[in-house]
Amino acid sequence: MFNFMRQFLSTLKNVCFPIICCSCGKFVDSEGLCPECWKHIKWIEDPKCRICGTPFEIDIDTICPVCIRQKPHFDKAISVFEYDDFSKNIVLKFKHVDATYMSRQLAAWIYRVSKGDLKNSNIIIPVPIHFLKRLKRKYNQSELLAQELSKFSGIVYEPRILQKIKHTSQQEGLSRNIRLKNVRGSFGVAPKYSHLLSRKNVVLIDDVLTTGATANECSKILKKYGAATVVVLTVARVNIHPS
Ligand SMILES: [Zn+2]
Ligand SMILES: [Zn+2]
Repeated sequence: MFNFMRQFLSTLKNVCFPIICCSCGKFVDSEGLCPECWKHIKWIEDPKCRICGTPFEIDIDTICPVCIRQKPHFDKAISVFEYDDFSKNIVLKFKHVDATYMSRQLAAWIYRVSKGDLKNSNIIIPVPIHFLKRLKRKYNQSELLAQELSKFSGIVYEPRILQKIKHTSQQEGLSRNIRLKNVRGSFGVAPKYSHLLSRKNVVLIDDVLTTGATANECSKILKKYGAATVVVLTVARVNIHPS
């Protein structure tokens, strides 16, 4: 009887709140991707750089040469899958179309790959967008991911500390050097909330890690105002070394 009720409630839930594939939109039972799309995703697994997460060709557990030469301001970057022609679809859908329903599934994937690294984390902060961009887009996709990750992990969500203080041009398609220049000085910490950062282990959330310029700049400022560590979590990453 109990099993029957559970089955019935599960079916009812699927009828009322159907889960659709984040990529192609087909109805699925769970996991957010249909089997066909699942096969096309390049999930990021070991071996990879212990700091920046750049995948390695050979099976070694170490730090990549770029991180040895210049350690990024963040302590670790973890992403769910590689950003390529296929997965781009998922990210752009979430970013530019009103597909906020995807945030829960994407955050579930982020939590799955990062939970071992979140044991000592105190606070979840989304990468902010400038208020003019927010007005245009109506929402910040990183905030949605951060809110959902907070529900999964029980770590406090805090969107007020980090702010985008300079309106920068669209980063997409720009070279690594221009991106770096673009983001320099474009984030700030709200003085009113800066005390909340003191000695905290911060989880910084964004949708994509491209050159790492944004994650690095945000981590720099968070540490300047007292954060002890910063772990960067993104849904996807471009397969190049972050700055
Ligand atoms: Zn699909
Ligand atoms: Zn590295």
